[in-house]
Amino acid sequence: MLIVPLLCDPLLCARPLAARRTEDSMTMTDPKPSVSADVMSLAGELGAERSRPGWSSFSLGINDEQRELRDWAHTFAADVIRPAASEWDEREETPWPVIQEAAKIGLYGLEASINLFIDPSGLLMPLVQEELFWGDAGIGMSLVGTGLASSAIFSNGTPEQWSQWLPRCYGTADDVQVAAFCSSEPGAGSDVSAIRTRATYDEKTDEWVLNGQKAWATNGGIADIHVVVATVDPSLGTKGQAAFVVPKSEVRGLEQGTKLKKHGLRASHTADVFLDNVRIPAENVLGGKEKLDARLAKAREPQDSAGRARNASMATFEMTRHIVGAQAIGIARAAYEFALDYAKGREQFGRPIIDNQGIAFKLADMAMEIDAARLLVWRAANMSSALMRGETPDYRHGEGSMAKLKAGEVAVKVTEEAIQILGGNGYTREYPVERMHRDAKIYTIFEGTSEIQRLVISRAISGMRIR
Ligand SMILES: Cc1cc2nc3c(=O)[nH]c(=O)nc-3n(C[C@H](O)[C@H](O)[C@H](O)COP(=O)(O)OP(=O)(O)OC[C@H]3O[C@@H](n4cnc5c(N)ncnc54)[C@H](O)[C@@H]3O)c2cc1C
Repeated sequence: MLIVPLLCDPLLCARPLAARRTEDSMTMTDPKPSVSADVMSLAGELGAERSRPGWSSFSLGINDEQRELRDWAHTFAADVIRPAASEWDEREETPWPVIQEAAKIGLYGLEASINLFIDPSGLLMPLVQEELFWGDAGIGMSLVGTGLASSAIFSNGTPEQWSQWLPRCYGTADDVQVAAFCSSEPGAGSDVSAIRTRATYDEKTDEWVLNGQKAWATNGGIADIHVVVATVDPSLGTKGQAAFVVPKSEVRGLEQGTKLKKHGLRASHTADVFLDNVRIPAENVLGGKEKLDARLAKAREPQDSAGRARNASMATFEMTRHIVGAQAIGIARAAYEFALDYAKGREQFGRPIIDNQGIAFKLADMAMEIDAARLLVWRAANMSSALMRGETPDYRHGEGSMAKLKAGEVAVKVTEEAIQILGGNGYTREYPVERMHRDAKIYTIFEGTSEIQRLVISRAISGMRIR
């Protein structure tokens, strides 16, 4: 099996072969040595050597379990999500019946999330999310938006906090819940260091008191569990911030503000959240108060380890970006498939419009760009799997950002081209591609705008603090 690629690859074969010929020519009696025998023996030697453990095989294949779970998600997307997409987009409401149905079959809930997360290849989560968003992005976001809060609890919380809060993020199949992650503020979007929401410790009652305004929170106000990022020491910038669990049903002072009317992703609830003297127990700070105090004390020391701290926080963000990229690919693929079918069926000038290179080449580019984006997503997913081995993924070039950036921009481009291919029909709500285009646009904005992804990548490749 190894021989064929070795024979075909001039870079692998050329140098060793040349070296061997020179040696051979000094000792050989046959004036016309058999070149093919030489090639075969070299390839055989290398083949045997590289079949030993340590030479890993390269594969873009997925295993049977991954395929099964992906197909299961696809069936749900095709049978339940897609038929409901237009209705919930028009209603601009959270599709609770769809979430309930997903919970009943085990596709929504804490167990489902753990099931998808625990995969040494890192591929399960993006595989499944691509399918859900292929079904519909607005409903998809209602199904996965809770993951923002639960990932924050998982990555910052203690095992006790996981047990206490993670089940409450999702509820049960009979009583489904969603959760909200509230970081952005009117004055702090891309610039998280500008967060003004303040958490003050009240020693007398051993409580935190939270005050501030959060913006654009997915599930904000309709969730019970809100994970709120607030500053404890504003002089320390992001290092002075911490995340707090605020269970709405147990506190006073957390109110939903304006529910936003959006361009796309309209089946997902987005709202401002106000915190007015919200009191929560000291233990609700993720990671625990002792660890926070130690972290703040360290941040106040002169920082010779600043570089290391930056890398660690970059790795945290990078680890989830490819999953967002997979969502964008789901939208792009749905639009591409729809446009391909349409182009085969729609006739103008007496022949299907796909007969024109002008249309067929668009579709070729759409297919290629989707695959290119998916490869980046899978690479970043695979890098994130280092977590499974208790290691920090080594994102040297902002590979997570590359995946999200490429996938988001591909989704916008592909859905726009899909509208073009459908012509007038593409521009109407009678056909799904205009909704897909509206949905796709958010992928250049949230979870880090395209410009911020480029900033991360350019800093990573240059080692410079590009601004
Ligand atoms: C539907 C939706 C759901 C969301 N869900 C959540 C959520 O659940 N939780 C949450 O916390 N937030 C959420 N957000 C907020 C989202 O993360 C922010 O909108 C995003 O981070 C961008 O911030 P901003 O809107 O303030 O844009 P700004 O930061 O004001 O950016 C405006 C423009 O300036 C550019 N820009 C800014 N700084 C730079 C720079 N240094 N270099 C180059 N260009 C720059 C940006 O790229 C962008 O093009 C959501 C937003 C939306 C629309």
